[in-house]
Amino acid sequence: MATPLSAEKLLGTLKDEGVQVVEHRSWRDNNRDGSGPWGPVHGVMIHHTATTETETTVDLCYKGRSDLPGPLCHGVIAKDGKVYLVGNGRANHAGSGDGNVLDAVVSERGLPDDNDTDTDGNAHFYGFECVNKGDGEDPWPPEQVDAVVRASAAICRAHGWGKKGDTSVIGHLEWQPGKVDPRGPGISMDDVRERVKERLGKDPDWSPDG
Ligand SMILES: [Zn+2]
Repeated sequence: MATPLSAEKLLGTLKDEGVQVVEHRSWRDNNRDGSGPWGPVHGVMIHHTATTETETTVDLCYKGRSDLPGPLCHGVIAKDGKVYLVGNGRANHAGSGDGNVLDAVVSERGLPDDNDTDTDGNAHFYGFECVNKGDGEDPWPPEQVDAVVRASAAICRAHGWGKKGDTSVIGHLEWQPGKVDPRGPGISMDDVRERVKERLGKDPDWSPDG
């Protein structure tokens, strides 16, 4: 099942997974669908923003920049764990990446190294931008990483992903050569995937440590 979730379904699955959702402006109708395909969807991609402030970051990700129109992701994950929804549909976050990585995501097996830019990621990945300086030193608070795990698990759960093997959650750095996000103390994609897998074995309202 790789048809993108409707706005209602996306919102519902995030809330069911215990995500603190903030709906930003007209996120339901904010997309780049006119510039290319959206779907079939196969996975979730995690980024860092290289910014520090939540409010301006959410606004930037909603509107985009003069050289890169928004939305720049589907949700912005703040340091306090709140998830601001900014887009629904095609978004400018993944760029062109490695088709072999996409194949691995589709079949839920281990990821090969990313060394090509032959595939349009914006058609196939939900994207979350996480507020972090991205300098490799700015720490990722546990609340934020928990939100990354919950948001990713929510989408995997809604699509039925993650049953065959590895979960369908990757970092931008695993998709596009030259990218380093997400990075910093407290975040590791292997750890995120382990925790998403753990969540998918439980009910959506489950919390670690009771
Ligand atoms: Zn990125």
